[in-house]
Amino acid sequence: MRKQVILGNWKMNGNFAEIKSLCESLNRAVSDDAKADVAVCVPFVYVDYVRANVIKKIGLGAQNVSEHDNGAYTGEISASMLKDLSCEYVIVGHSERRTLFQESNQLVAKKAKKAIASGMKAIVCVGETLAERNEGELERVLTAQVEILFDVLSEKELEEVIIAYEPVWAIGTGLAATPEQVQSVHKFIRSVVTKSNELLAKSIRIVYGGSLKPSNAKTLLALEDVDGGLIGGASLKGEDFGEIINQAKCITC
Ligand code: PEP
Repeated sequence: MRKQVILGNWKMNGNFAEIKSLCESLNRAVSDDAKADVAVCVPFVYVDYVRANVIKKIGLGAQNVSEHDNGAYTGEISASMLKDLSCEYVIVGHSERRTLFQESNQLVAKKAKKAIASGMKAIVCVGETLAERNEGELERVLTAQVEILFDVLSEKELEEVIIAYEPVWAIGTGLAATPEQVQSVHKFIRSVVTKSNELLAKSIRIVYGGSLKPSNAKTLLALEDVDGGLIGGASLKGEDFGEIINQAKCITC
């Protein structure tokens, strides 16, 4: 039984006035008794404001974390600092960080470990580029991105991981993967987890991200191996995000 989780990724968007109005619209659109877990991953500097200004149902997350505990790492933010601000989730290994900041599988796994050690859940993003898919590299790429987690994290730590399958070609393009593509990749990712830990494979949440929006949420969130969504663009509009949450499947209904 896996409870769905709907996660917003605000990226580096907004100014104070926009964040304020986004919080207000989220509070109107998200109901306290939503059936899925819900959280928004916001720019570091607004974490505290969002925490104080959204309804309790909406959990808080960040979009990155340092792989170090503390010290001379100018500009970095540690996991314990995020925990101090009541963050419950941290995104690690988003494709933008892998591409623009050269984050490796090893580094992503280390960041996940730090987040979990501080008591948060790590949302580990995985996904292939279009070239990798076209060259038949999809399974090799995903296997490497997932298997590293088993090398770096303990069995207990792995329970705090959410895997976000985000095909790079679907992020921010308006072109989501088809339901067939999504189900088949999610099933494949679960099979990779099964090889290392059969029990974990049954409970780990694998969410889909990549142009998820109100018009395709119902179909994609209903798929057997989809346990929620990671939403970029559509999470910047309270009404759209609320509509997506309403399409989450409820395992107890
Ligand atoms: C993302 O950046 O994680 C994402 C899924 O973006 P979008 O929903 O805009 O494709």
